[in-house]
Amino acid sequence: MKEYYDVIIVGTGAAGLYCALNLPERKNILMITKKEADQSDSFLAQGGICMLRGEDDYEDYFEDTMRAGHYENNKKAVDLMLRSSNSIIRDLLMREVDFERNEKGDLEFTREGAHSQPRILFHKDITGKEITSKLLAQAQTRENIEIVEYMTMVDLISADNICGGVVAMDEQDEIYEIRAPYVVLACGGLGGLYKNSTNFPHITGDALGIAMKHGVMLENIDYIQIHPTTLYSQKPGRRFLISESVRGEGAYLYDKNGQRFTNELQPRDLLSQAIFSQMEKQDTEFVWEDMRPLGETAIMKHFPNIFSRCLEEGFDVRKEPIPVVPAQHYFMGGIKVNLGSRTSMQGLYACGETSCNGVHGKNRLASNSLLESLVFARRAADDILFGKKPEPCRAGAVDRKAYEDRENLMAGYRTVILNEIERMKKSHE
Ligand SMILES: Cc1cc2nc3c(=O)[nH]c(=O)nc-3n(C[C@H](O)[C@H](O)[C@H](O)COP(=O)(O)OP(=O)(O)OC[C@H]3O[C@@H](n4cnc5c(N)ncnc54)[C@H](O)[C@@H]3O)c2cc1C
Repeated sequence: MKEYYDVIIVGTGAAGLYCALNLPERKNILMITKKEADQSDSFLAQGGICMLRGEDDYEDYFEDTMRAGHYENNKKAVDLMLRSSNSIIRDLLMREVDFERNEKGDLEFTREGAHSQPRILFHKDITGKEITSKLLAQAQTRENIEIVEYMTMVDLISADNICGGVVAMDEQDEIYEIRAPYVVLACGGLGGLYKNSTNFPHITGDALGIAMKHGVMLENIDYIQIHPTTLYSQKPGRRFLISESVRGEGAYLYDKNGQRFTNELQPRDLLSQAIFSQMEKQDTEFVWEDMRPLGETAIMKHFPNIFSRCLEEGFDVRKEPIPVVPAQHYFMGGIKVNLGSRTSMQGLYACGETSCNGVHGKNRLASNSLLESLVFARRAADDILFGKKPEPCRAGAVDRKAYEDRENLMAGYRTVILNEIERMKKSHE
């Protein structure tokens, strides 16, 4: 790792990788990540990635996104995402991402909750892995991109609201001061702050705490999505997601008496509420999800990952319902950015789940987040290339003592975020 780069990108999920790949090869780029490069939530995405299916679909797709978001979405951001989706998908296909096709060789589309029609591309039930592993492999072969694993950003370097780089630490608590005129925060969500979450536990919203320390503006950080259906388990650790496309393809939910109790295809927040209130009414810790209506062939073709994971937990989804419970899943709020993914600090960008450009409003429509990550990561790259240049950052040497107690420092960020979420919640009441 060097002392100076043209661009530093924090995070190796879909957003970070796609931003790096959209910058020219003459730019020296450093990417850092807390764990191994493939340990990001982007790798976990199951259901798929949305795309606009021609002009005929525009109004419906726009309305589905707005309705799911309780009409709090930024309409310009939604329009931009929809209009950019075809070029993003074309680019992914050129990067050899493999999506499901029918016997004629045309792309096949599935449907998830709150979508008025099928518009989701998928690769079995491991779409995120298919997309992100291809992006990662390409980034690893680019000479201008250096990827450093087990390197955690613990602070930003800034002066006069101009960003000049990051302070990072390795696993041995060695401190690194790394400078660049552009820093992109692509640090994902904050599921690691919750006991029950589908996210990797190391994704703890660090960028938000660090942004707050530097007075960078945040938005709607109390907008946290609970996914209605994760496999119930008494074991600690990450909750396994039962993708919404399972319900989109025809699975039912039952209460403890084996009765359907709600519309399985309503938006995630409403369905989670319906499940919670059913659990309370019947004093249970879960409800049941029945994949049998899909039939064995569809289960094995479309959902092999869910099938084998449930089998490991002792459930054969071809023959019996599985216990499911809602859990923290996604973060709609984040570091406030404009449509070029610029934050309120010069030279500092944010994209992917860490950022809030308002596209999701109060609640994300299923399979809009991979698309959003890619669209606005590319816009960050465009803005770095073509936008107004930041002024030089005049920050001097960092005070290394401030980072010696790493545990305390990171715990402090977590507390600040949780307090701010509570404060925002109250202000939205
Ligand atoms: C189980 C599951 C299923 C999903 N299914 C879908 C789906 O079907 N369709 C869809 O559109 N979306 C889905 N999502 C959401 C989607 O995967 C994410 O919103 C999206 O991939 C976020 O990408 P990202 O690049 O912003 O963050 P991530 O992919 O989470 O990457 C974050 C990166 O930041 C790094 N990082 C964090 N903090 C630091 C730090 N302090 N220092 C250094 N590095 C740091 C992490 O190590 C990681 O590399 C799903 C999410 C989950 C968890």
